[in-house]
Amino acid sequence: MKHTKEFDIAIIGGGLVGTSLAAALAHTDLRIALIDARPASSKPTLEDYDERSLALGYGSARIYQALGLWSKIATAATPIQTVHVSEKGRLGVTRLNASDLDSNALGYVVTLRHLGSVLDSSLNHQAGLTRFQGARLQHLEADGEAIEISIVTDQGPLSLRAALLAGADGTQSMTRTLLGIEQQDLNYQQHAIIANVTPELPHKNQAFERFTPDGPLALLPLTNNRCALVCTQRPEDAARTMHLSVAAFLRDLNARFGYRLGRFVRTGKRECYPLNLMIPERLTGQRSLLLGNAAHTLHPVAGQGLNLALRDVALLAQLLTQYTDPGSPELLTHYATLRMRDIRATAQYTDGLVRLFTHPSNLLGHLRGAGLILLDRLPPMKRQIARIGMGERRYLYGRLFLGLPTEPLAR
Ligand SMILES: Cc1cc2nc3c(=O)[nH]c(=O)nc-3n(C[C@H](O)[C@H](O)[C@H](O)COP(=O)(O)OP(=O)(O)OC[C@H]3O[C@@H](n4cnc5c(N)ncnc54)[C@H](O)[C@@H]3O)c2cc1C
Repeated sequence: MKHTKEFDIAIIGGGLVGTSLAAALAHTDLRIALIDARPASSKPTLEDYDERSLALGYGSARIYQALGLWSKIATAATPIQTVHVSEKGRLGVTRLNASDLDSNALGYVVTLRHLGSVLDSSLNHQAGLTRFQGARLQHLEADGEAIEISIVTDQGPLSLRAALLAGADGTQSMTRTLLGIEQQDLNYQQHAIIANVTPELPHKNQAFERFTPDGPLALLPLTNNRCALVCTQRPEDAARTMHLSVAAFLRDLNARFGYRLGRFVRTGKRECYPLNLMIPERLTGQRSLLLGNAAHTLHPVAGQGLNLALRDVALLAQLLTQYTDPGSPELLTHYATLRMRDIRATAQYTDGLVRLFTHPSNLLGHLRGAGLILLDRLPPMKRQIARIGMGERRYLYGRLFLGLPTEPLAR
């Protein structure tokens, strides 16, 4: 049979969350295996009109700062100065400003290419890290001492043994399936159309959240006056929108969004995703835990998914400095208790927004309009909501949340 390699932690999944976790453990003496199904490839390094992006809250920027990565990420990050919230067909508008919070930005928009490449290059030459690319998790078995993991690579099967397995293998997580963890799934019956678009007027670093009867529409500011569009629609409408000509798509977008940025004059490639809410019944198994999309998949309305995942990473990195055995039941319980609270609260926040603003009741519609007007005149409440959106939570725990590096544990 194959040779077994020994590690302290095996991370399944080398997406943004798996690589962020590996980077967060760079200054420890842990032996880490990072296993990703994607083969090693040379990724494009040039800006492309169509590249995908996401919004990182201020809290996430602070975590990357503590990891020593923020200065590199920031070179291509677009700060969000204002978030403008409105509802189509109603008068109420709320504006959240960075200056109201004495902050430089409410968050930042970064491209997946840039963030991925900063994370990837930070892992090159990381002591104690072994990467397995083009390698898939197939089987696992835990005992009191360790977890045995079977993976399949182009070179054949391999067996690894680790004190802890961290499953960061996305929404369809194989780790979650193999651990027999059930999940709650909610199909929103909505699809998100993603595209980069260019408006006639400068975006001035404003992000827009616009609620329409078909679903919410978000526009994030990007470099070269591009905006990243996430437009949610019913599946049948989304299928029609995907087939519109460029001119008809731009007209349709103006009809949904309005003319706050003038006409939309350019669009890139459109992509369409079905939207679900997924929360697992538990976050841990014997010598194993879940993080990132494997542990929570949310509606993208408030751009919370990766931000929430970075809080999984930050807590785990902190706990690994406090417990000598990385997979001990005490560490796992500590992780699950603190993370489930944040995951449920964030899922309720995003799900509540979707439900509140897509409810067809006319009375509720008037109340929403009045609520947005009122909120705009209540700075303390606005600040509170902005802090939630930025990723601030009262019950977060650990040094990375404060922007400070973790202190390595002497093992
Ligand atoms: C339209 C849209 C807009 C969004 N906007 C935002 C935003 O503005 N802000 C924000 O914070 N979040 C946003 N999100 C959410 C964010 O994109 C996700 O939360 C984040 O990318 C999840 O990363 P991940 O690493 O957990 O999962 P993934 O990116 O899915 O990575 C999983 C990795 O696991 C690997 N893998 C899978 N199976 C196996 C296996 N069996 N063995 C080994 N490896 C395996 C895959 O190759 C992959 O590399 C958005 C999401 C959507 C859909």
